[in-house]
Amino acid sequence: MADYDIIIIGGGPGGYLAAERLGHAKQKVLLVEKEFLGGTCLNVGCIPTKSLLNSAKLYEHAAHSGQFGVTAENVAFDWAKVQAWKTDVVGKLVAGVGAAEKRAGVVVARAHGTLIAPGVVEVDGERKTADHVIIATGSVPVMPPIPGAKDNPLVVDSTGLLAVEAVPKRLVVIGGGVIGLEFASLFAAFGAEVEVIEMLPEIVPFMDDDLAGRLRKALGKVKFHLNCKVTGIEGGTVVYTSAKGETVRADADLILMAVGRRPLVDGWGAKEAGLEVGPRGVVVDDTMRTNLPNVWAVGDVTGRSLLAHAAYRMGDIAAAHILDTSAATGSGQRLRTDTIPWAVYSMPEAAGVGLTEAQAAGRGHQVVTATVPLAVSGRFVAENGVRGPGAVKLIADAATRAVLGIHMLGNYAPETIWGAALLLETELTVDDLRQVVFPHPTVSEGIREAAWAIKD
Ligand SMILES: Cc1cc2nc3c(=O)[nH]c(=O)nc-3n(C[C@H](O)[C@H](O)[C@H](O)COP(=O)(O)OP(=O)(O)OC[C@H]3O[C@@H](n4cnc5c(N)ncnc54)[C@H](O)[C@@H]3O)c2cc1C
Repeated sequence: MADYDIIIIGGGPGGYLAAERLGHAKQKVLLVEKEFLGGTCLNVGCIPTKSLLNSAKLYEHAAHSGQFGVTAENVAFDWAKVQAWKTDVVGKLVAGVGAAEKRAGVVVARAHGTLIAPGVVEVDGERKTADHVIIATGSVPVMPPIPGAKDNPLVVDSTGLLAVEAVPKRLVVIGGGVIGLEFASLFAAFGAEVEVIEMLPEIVPFMDDDLAGRLRKALGKVKFHLNCKVTGIEGGTVVYTSAKGETVRADADLILMAVGRRPLVDGWGAKEAGLEVGPRGVVVDDTMRTNLPNVWAVGDVTGRSLLAHAAYRMGDIAAAHILDTSAATGSGQRLRTDTIPWAVYSMPEAAGVGLTEAQAAGRGHQVVTATVPLAVSGRFVAENGVRGPGAVKLIADAATRAVLGIHMLGNYAPETIWGAALLLETELTVDDLRQVVFPHPTVSEGIREAAWAIKD
């Protein structure tokens, strides 16, 4: 008999959620985590960034509250306390995960896990056996081979920037994706001069171009350089080729390398055990099965989506299939990556799900779209004014009227977008959407108005 029913390598959102689900289903689970329970998300990702951003949002609000009839004098921030708030939030949530695992009867090992073979994992050198193994080792930041970047103390990744002891005076961010933008927005709010250098023609590549352009303009304090390629770093100076082909230099006190993350597929025996690893990560089917029997992979390590909620979903799916061995259907649970929402918690916020207009056209849809300003929402106007940055774009198939994508710019978009994800998940049409009653006044009403703005 095996030591455990399931051994999970990696205690981030993918691993810890699967462990909880399986533990509550009376499975004997060992969760092996080498660094920190809660993984990237809780410790150096989603949660610390949102904690710092919350302080930045409060600071911005207080500093600009005059237009709302509220006067605040001597508005200031104390970076040490901002950091202390972040540390407190992270600590509480990590402790919460530990308690949740305990409640589920999961055994947590603070150790390095290595996959030896299906059903065999080395835990800090000691072999343990299990009926199933779930790989949930996550991802790490990409450090591109830009001359002058390696071993440069002024070049940091997101983890390094989260821990800075003071707000840098000048911050250059290489990469205009979600992580780069959140940091750019955060530090610009706290008074840093921020420049973002992006190789592509627009920021946030999976956001519809129209709205991504508006988001960029709304991040007014941040200077963007699009279509620009960084060629080298000299101390605190980033050298890049501009869109016009000129060599430009940007001076910084700190440089954030935010060009993406890569699945962590090395250092835990994938190759030696014969696990199939492709260019995107550990290869899985839509039930999270790998090529090895009873070896599953979930979360960032699969490269299917590098988002915490996608990792949760993958953890759920793997757990469902492990538990449903009789029918091997896992209650019909399957991963769909085209309905996973994304969000940016910058100031303003943005979120979306599904295809952009260009992607939909590229897939052969005859596309119909509607874009409405969030000024259609009374709550939005009350909080941002009619000129506040906010809009909803709905992308649909002209023939079937199926909703293909919904992209939103404006505060509360991340809280609202799950409803749009549900639409896509259940394959509803614009006409189905028109029958939904939206609470008033909410920014979600922008979605309803976009549905009515689609041509009949
Ligand atoms: C700055 C930043 C902000 C982000 N913000 C958001 C956000 O707002 N929303 C969102 O959805 N996503 C966000 N993400 C992405 C999110 O953090 C990841 O998608 C999520 O953490 C992936 O979960 P995971 O379980 O796959 O991997 P991870 O969270 O990376 O966890 C993997 C765990 O495995 C452990 N591990 C690795 N190898 C071994 C081994 N051999 N033995 C034992 N343990 C091992 C690691 O120590 C780690 O704890 C952010 C990421 C960053 C960096």
